[in-house]
Amino acid sequence: MKKQLLINGEWLEAKSYYRLYSPYTQEFIAEIPLASREETELAIESANQVREKMARLPAHKRSSILEKLVELLERRADEAAQIIALEASKPISLAEGEVARTIATFKIAAEEAKRIHGETIPLDAAPGGEKRIAFTTREPIGVIAAITPFNFPMNLVAHKVGPAIAAGNTIVLKPAEQTPLSSLFIAELLQEAGLPAGALNVVTGEGRVVGDMLVTDSRVSMITFTGSPEVGIGIRNKAGLKKVTLELGSNAAVIIDKGVDVDKIIGRCVMGAFSNQGQVCISLQRVYVHENLYEKFVESFVEETKKLKLGDPLDSTTDVSALISPKDVQRTLNWIEEARESGAKIAIGGKADGNIVYPTVILDADSSLKVSCQEVFAPIVSINKIKSVEEAIDLVNNSQFGLQAGIYTENISIALDAAEKLHMGCVLINDIPTFRVDHMPYGGVKKSGAGREGIKYAIEEMTEMKLIIFNRN
Ligand code: NAD
Repeated sequence: MKKQLLINGEWLEAKSYYRLYSPYTQEFIAEIPLASREETELAIESANQVREKMARLPAHKRSSILEKLVELLERRADEAAQIIALEASKPISLAEGEVARTIATFKIAAEEAKRIHGETIPLDAAPGGEKRIAFTTREPIGVIAAITPFNFPMNLVAHKVGPAIAAGNTIVLKPAEQTPLSSLFIAELLQEAGLPAGALNVVTGEGRVVGDMLVTDSRVSMITFTGSPEVGIGIRNKAGLKKVTLELGSNAAVIIDKGVDVDKIIGRCVMGAFSNQGQVCISLQRVYVHENLYEKFVESFVEETKKLKLGDPLDSTTDVSALISPKDVQRTLNWIEEARESGAKIAIGGKADGNIVYPTVILDADSSLKVSCQEVFAPIVSINKIKSVEEAIDLVNNSQFGLQAGIYTENISIALDAAEKLHMGCVLINDIPTFRVDHMPYGGVKKSGAGREGIKYAIEEMTEMKLIIFNRN
């Protein structure tokens, strides 16, 4: 199978190609265009040429294109899930979940397309403002470059393409090298749904080439990026006056206070740590358990982990499959080794079979170890003993990241205290940090990013405010 680039509404052969392999079987999947600078240039120009047309498209039309896309995706949901499972090695049950969420994301975008509005401002609140009427509107920002990661190859594309279309923008989409098929599939459906030619262009290929051009081209008004902090910070440094939203990584944590019913929460904690092989930006990486519950928690966690089934992503009973690349398997094993050498205890896991890293639980891990302070992005969790929630809050905050954190407690004042003191984009009371529904404002502080997604909030980022003043004097 040989894929093509989508530029100006046409599928084009590229000058060069790379070969895409399954992370699980290492079997060949497809030949993917390796977009050149010239091809990227064409994509940017095509998005630039139709920006006026898209900006003039009425809200009901933008909404109905997205509605139509939802319909098409519902019809082809199984195929969509297969694509995700194949290219990302995401267990098929989770891939189906991602497709359901992608549908929800586009549905919300279709609804939000009809609710983009400004406000009236009482100018006479200041002397000199008498007899003037003022109101704001929100105008599309123009050409948006969307750069996406491998771990949610369809829904995270929806989180950029959905609001961009809802707001009347045009897009050049650059998906992750390992997961271009989900983006190409969505692009195909959007064409069928009647999106004007050139409004969405897809350039697959290398981040260094395509990404770099998108970030520096003056016709591009905004970069919306989801990916690693290193790349995100590089983009921010090069983007000049372009608007940039960054959804980056984390080492998410949960605090478990005394008096919590361990049996009730254990399944959810294990899921949060190992879902999609831990390749989730809010994957549960650090657990801080009150000393009264520590032994029981560790024992139950290990028991529950033993039940996970490792294997083929296309098998509906698989819980944990391959990491995205052999390089990541090696990195993960090195980090586990570093922990072991420093005296930490590996309660379960700690090894790999092919590209599958066994779900790994680490005890007594010092906060300076990579498995604690870096983003592991693999099925590794460390469980630590704490004497008080206060101590745990300091440990959770002792991180370069700040995306989401959870606390389980029966005590309302402790919960509210933690909500106030945890330096995060979101604090979850009585839940793990690994929770997201697609309309909530989502994003982090510190090295976890800047700006928010969650359709309505992404639309705010993807539009410019304009003020209009009538002088009646
Ligand atoms: P990555 O940073 O390696 O790649 C992301 C995208 O950036 C890819 O499309 C890549 O080709 C592109 N890219 C690479 N170099 C570039 C450059 N110099 N200029 C422009 N673009 C470039 O990330 P990944 O490994 O695909 O994804 C994993 C990371 O994404 C993790 O850190 C994870 O936490 C983060 N993530 C964050 C969220 C969130 O919402 N906060 C969601 C999912 C993933």
